[in-house]
Amino acid sequence: MDFTDKTVVVTGSARGIGRSIAESFAALNANVVICDLDQQQVEAVAAEIGARAVGFKADVTSVADLEQLFEKVVEKFGRVDVLVNNAGITRDTLMIRMNEKDWDTVLDINLKGSFLATKLAAKIMMKQRSGRIISISSVVGLTGNAGQANYAASKAGLIGFTKSAAKELAARGITVNAVAPGFIQTEMTEAMPDAAKEAFLVQVPLKRPGTPQDVASAVLFFASDAASYVTGQVLAVDGGLTMQ
Ligand code: NAD
Repeated sequence: MDFTDKTVVVTGSARGIGRSIAESFAALNANVVICDLDQQQVEAVAAEIGARAVGFKADVTSVADLEQLFEKVVEKFGRVDVLVNNAGITRDTLMIRMNEKDWDTVLDINLKGSFLATKLAAKIMMKQRSGRIISISSVVGLTGNAGQANYAASKAGLIGFTKSAAKELAARGITVNAVAPGFIQTEMTEAMPDAAKEAFLVQVPLKRPGTPQDVASAVLFFASDAASYVTGQVLAVDGGLTMQ
């Protein structure tokens, strides 16, 4: 795979899966845009990734931030070839105890943030008559999970959103797909109690947690020429946890 002259925007890419996705594209010669909440952090990560990376601060819940982000990307690189909607958070608790704020915050960042970024990127991609949009959902969006009603709803919503956008944008040469990771070792899952991690892992046929690179590989596939006839799909990267 080679992404020379392609510009890739990855939201929430200061660490974890997003950072690994950005590094993977940069290693294949893409221009990568690191986008996250803190300006100093995105600049530092971009500097570590190398000359083809730039860091632009953007909160995906802010239309103004996202408008500025895409303006700056087009100013610098002239185009947007790939958008990866990766920014996401959890606010886990049982549904019966879940407050409205934790519901709204998770839905705003994980689902609405992806809609807002996709809408702006799609406007640019429609003019180009090409583009790839890839959203990071989750296996819990397919299966549900006790203690994650807000998160599972946001990730299931992302799948419906992906399929709808895929149908709307196909005629303009834009594909829209989603990756549904299972249990991936990052700071997000590090916060889980050991017992919960063990309970998850015993159900994984491949008997190991996934790595950010495992998720990045699936994203690279959707962004590559190899996936030019693939749209509206959800690829589980979960060690076999959910087989349907
Ligand atoms: P992480 O917490 O390590 O990283 C998430 C990044 O998103 C952070 O850098 C954070 O600052 C950024 N972010 C949060 N809110 C933001 C906002 N409003 N605007 C911009 N950036 C924001 O998480 P991760 O484990 O790397 O997860 C990345 C994505 O993968 C998330 O969407 C997550 O739901 C999904 N996912 C993770 C796992 C897993 O096991 N780790 C499994 C399935 C899906």
